[in-house]
Amino acid sequence: MLTDAQWDDAQRRRDQVSTWSAAAGIPLFGALTCVAMFISTLLGRGAWRYPIAVLAAAVIGLPLIVALTKYSTTESAKTDSRLREMSHQLNQAMHTANEEATRRDSQASRQRFESRLTNALDMAEGEREVFEVVERSVAIVQPGARSELLLADNSHAHLVRMAAVGFEQGETGCQVSSPDQCPAARRAQVQVFADRDDLDACPKLRRRTAEHASAACVPVSIMGRTVGVIHSTRDTTYTPPEEELGNLSTLAKLAGARIGLMRAMAESQLQASTDTLTGLFNRRSFEERLTESRRTHPDLAVAMADLDHFKDLNDTYGHETGDRALRLFARVLRESVRSDDLLCRYGGEEFALAFPSCSAHDAVRALEKVRRNLDEATTVSGLPRFTASFGVTEMPAHLDLPTALSRADTALFTAKREGRDRVVVDPSLATVAAADTWLAPGDDSQADGDFFGGPAAVNDVPGGSTAQSGATSHSSP
Ligand code: GH3
Ligand code: MG
Ligand code: MG
Repeated sequence: MLTDAQWDDAQRRRDQVSTWSAAAGIPLFGALTCVAMFISTLLGRGAWRYPIAVLAAAVIGLPLIVALTKYSTTESAKTDSRLREMSHQLNQAMHTANEEATRRDSQASRQRFESRLTNALDMAEGEREVFEVVERSVAIVQPGARSELLLADNSHAHLVRMAAVGFEQGETGCQVSSPDQCPAARRAQVQVFADRDDLDACPKLRRRTAEHASAACVPVSIMGRTVGVIHSTRDTTYTPPEEELGNLSTLAKLAGARIGLMRAMAESQLQASTDTLTGLFNRRSFEERLTESRRTHPDLAVAMADLDHFKDLNDTYGHETGDRALRLFARVLRESVRSDDLLCRYGGEEFALAFPSCSAHDAVRALEKVRRNLDEATTVSGLPRFTASFGVTEMPAHLDLPTALSRADTALFTAKREGRDRVVVDPSLATVAAADTWLAPGDDSQADGDFFGGPAAVNDVPGGSTAQSGATSHSSP
């Protein structure tokens, strides 16, 4: 490396050569002329003295001139070498500066991408919108490639395509079927397969029919677990540049983090709004959902349910069996009603139910189905047989929830008093009382019309009967 001192020294020596050449040249030339003339007077006469003087000057001056020229050439060569070194250093410095500028440009472009991606993911509501952001992002990061996001399903045994870009209609992507089979997901490491014919190419890539194929596979982790991969292929041999891989990794990292956050939030919301034993809504979230539902469905039916002689079941078979019975009842409820009906564990072995846009008549039919399904489910599950009683009322737009629940509770009380294992309708509902006629035994037109998707409980609806075998009692007003 040429230092400033060395360069100054070279300059100084060059100046010295010039100065000394000039300073010594003139007296030397004079002295040389004198000596040459003196020699010529000694050796020649007349006109011969001039050529002799020139010859003498040449003979004496030549070594001097040669020495001076050599010295000057050496010094000049040294200066040239220093100049060359300097120019080389300058080139190197420019090269380094260019490299640094390129690196900074690439870093700035990655930061821009990352910040825009963060923004986009931040605005995404729900996983579907996150997948759309992933699709748009891979199209920017890897234009011309076929890219897909594969994520494990709930069982973690299968990879499912969640997002895809660049595929023809019906075209399949990577044939890997589970995270364990994917080298990138298994190793939790970015994998680049530049050519399907390489010795260490992914076996799934080798199966592709294209003449050439390359792939970049970036693992996706959700809540600390690698559960998927962003898989990107081309029908050419291709090694993605570092920036492209960096952007893909950023995408995988941020999308995984966003999905993880969404799932964690959904999980905690679910936990906060549901009863841990049964998974049904707790009282607070039931009331919230009901209020929400009433905005679009102002008229609905509500019911209270209570397991019969549950204390005896607990006392006889133990609390653990009681818990299993509660869970079974909750499952039967879920499986017997519509998806937009609201189910709540109101407390202990009591449950509240709401049926949007539904009359008490249809609610009765749904609850009869619950009773019948409960009977089957207890048999299948091996639990001791237990039953439930129900009280139903209607909740028109003007009625508040506490009043409606209190009326349903009164009907439930009647059901208990009349022998349990039955559905009783709020006696204040004159119209439903008249429904006894709709649900009269043998009325097939009502029986087959299954509002809730299953066979109606015709046998269980003998108007006014109080038999333990499963009667629906409609108290008259
Ligand atoms: P009825 O038919 O009149 O409703 O009689 P019952 O025995 O069901 O009613 P009671 O109110 O006398 O008893 C309710 C029982 O429910 C008492 C309580 O131990 C039980 N229980 C309440 N919550 C739970 C629970 O979370 N797990 C279990 N195993 N039992 C519960
Ligand atoms: Mg009870
Ligand atoms: Mg009770």
